[in-house]
Amino acid sequence: MSTFSDLGLPEPVLRALTESGYVNPTPIQAAAIPAILAKRDIIGAAQTGTGKTAAFALPTLARLGPAGGKPRCLVLVPTRELAIQVDENFRKYGKHLGTRTALLYGGVGYGAQTEALKAGVDVVIATPGRLLDLQEQRILRLDAIQVLILDEVDRMLDMGFIEDVSRIIRLCPKQRQTILFSATADERVGKVANWALTDPVTVD
Ligand code: AMP
Repeated sequence: MSTFSDLGLPEPVLRALTESGYVNPTPIQAAAIPAILAKRDIIGAAQTGTGKTAAFALPTLARLGPAGGKPRCLVLVPTRELAIQVDENFRKYGKHLGTRTALLYGGVGYGAQTEALKAGVDVVIATPGRLLDLQEQRILRLDAIQVLILDEVDRMLDMGFIEDVSRIIRLCPKQRQTILFSATADERVGKVANWALTDPVTVD
């Protein structure tokens, strides 16, 4: 069985994993981590509970390296609950890199989210509506995004977010890595993947 260090993750990330008590990668992690480190676009078929969040968070943190200031990774998720979970993962695994995150979702005031963005962040985790709000107000810029992660795409489509998701993808630089995770692989998901990803590797 492979270990996390076999997969090519850097020391600060490995240290955070040891502190989390993780010993071996899950199958989706073993498949996705090397491909993401190699800067490939990914289609991941995985449900919650498989370790999918770490599968994309760990190599993305490794790729981004030390904290910068401009948002370089955007994780788009369907719900506030998932946004909170993904943010916890990035902060836990990125703590020795000093990675800063902003958590953006609707139904709450703009104050704290605006403050976080103004202070400078590396990773933005957001639901589509609030993200577009903040982008339209020019509080958030997406022009430095290097890694775009679309998590639970099937649920975003079920919830009617196709227009918003398409707009957000178009706002990101064309030169980027795109990672798509979905529990199901239907025609709608395939359409988004065909359009948004380049020569993707499928992992499941
Ligand atoms: P997820 O599928 O991303 O929702 O993760 C499911 C749960 O598994 C979370 O509580 C993670 O903290 C945990 N987890 C993820 N990867 C590992 C691993 N390699 N070893 C042990 N636990 C893990």
